[in-house]
Amino acid sequence: MSVTSVLNLHATVDLEEADRLMTVCNSCRYCEGLCAVFPAMEMRRAFSDGDLNYLANLCHSCGACYVDCQFSPPHEFNVNVPKNLAKVRNDSYAAYAWPRICAPLFARNGLAISIITALSVAVFIIGFVAFNDLKMLFVAGSEAGAFYRLMPHSAMALLFGLAFLYVIVALVMGLRAFLADIGEPAVTLTAPISLWQAIKDASTLRYLDGGEAGCFNADDRPRDSRRWAHHATFYGFLLCFASTCVATLYHYLLAREAPYPWYDLPVVLGTLGGIGLVLGTTELFRARLVRDPDMIDRLSMGMDVAFIAMLWATGLTGLLLLFLRATPAMGLLLALHLGVVFSLFLTMPYGKFVHGLYRFVALVRYAKERRSKHYH
Ligand code: SF4
Ligand code: SF4
Repeated sequence: MSVTSVLNLHATVDLEEADRLMTVCNSCRYCEGLCAVFPAMEMRRAFSDGDLNYLANLCHSCGACYVDCQFSPPHEFNVNVPKNLAKVRNDSYAAYAWPRICAPLFARNGLAISIITALSVAVFIIGFVAFNDLKMLFVAGSEAGAFYRLMPHSAMALLFGLAFLYVIVALVMGLRAFLADIGEPAVTLTAPISLWQAIKDASTLRYLDGGEAGCFNADDRPRDSRRWAHHATFYGFLLCFASTCVATLYHYLLAREAPYPWYDLPVVLGTLGGIGLVLGTTELFRARLVRDPDMIDRLSMGMDVAFIAMLWATGLTGLLLLFLRATPAMGLLLALHLGVVFSLFLTMPYGKFVHGLYRFVALVRYAKERRSKHYH
């Protein structure tokens, strides 16, 4: 047990436990080749709360160090790094939330996101009906400008633009809190070599491979499907975002209004992105169900599933809108899709989405530390 644990210097019981585990692992070092967590740990002799939050955000919960560990339960040392770091990581999301009043949204995340999504969809349906004739909701339309008969483009752009700005501010404030906690200056994020290394590590999910074997499940057999599902989801999301950006350029630069024909760039990007989101999140959900319950943080189940469900619903409602826009279901599907996407945007700073941001920053810091260790 470390000195800080004895003196009870950590903010939470899980941070106390993380300090104990990292102290044991620092003596053992058997897992140093598995991921970035252990080499980063080895650069330290003592662990502040910020250090432990940094290490927790480097961990991908692949489970390899739990399966490989000779001190994991039922051994009396009770070493369970993935579960403990998952708890520390999930607590850190709430600790960095901005504004602070929104931090409790992480505690009942599944319920909060379900309510916000249901309200968001309802508001779009009510808005469509309030500003139009009710029967307009059931009019088919796949010609240019059909969507904007239900909601003017200017209103859509204003609503989503304001939500986007709010999300950027909330995420930047969360990022500042994370950097302050781990004691890393913001200028680190502008160092090109560290940044480039982190981009490569994040875009290939280098450390989600359990030391090249894959993620471990309840049957102790490693599989790489979680990594490929994460790739499909992440790149699917980026393609959908690119589709929206191209459609915005079409609207303002070329005066071309949505919906566009199936072969047009925004539709091609959105279709590929939607397929990636639906397939990727379906596999992520399946992979979540077969994880060994001993190495996951059960309290984060709601948050994990809510984020997977939101991305899945975004992809599915987008694809349904594409395929059924020439039918009377177009109005309701548009309300459903806009409601889900708006809710996804609004809840981004208060759900699992933040893991990408903090993990990327942790990877930038790790790249910097590794280089500086190399040169000294
Ligand atoms: S998880 Fe276990 S085997 Fe791996 S470094 Fe820690 S104590 Fe050693
Ligand atoms: S669960 Fe995987 S990523 Fe996390 S510390 Fe263990 S080996 Fe590293």
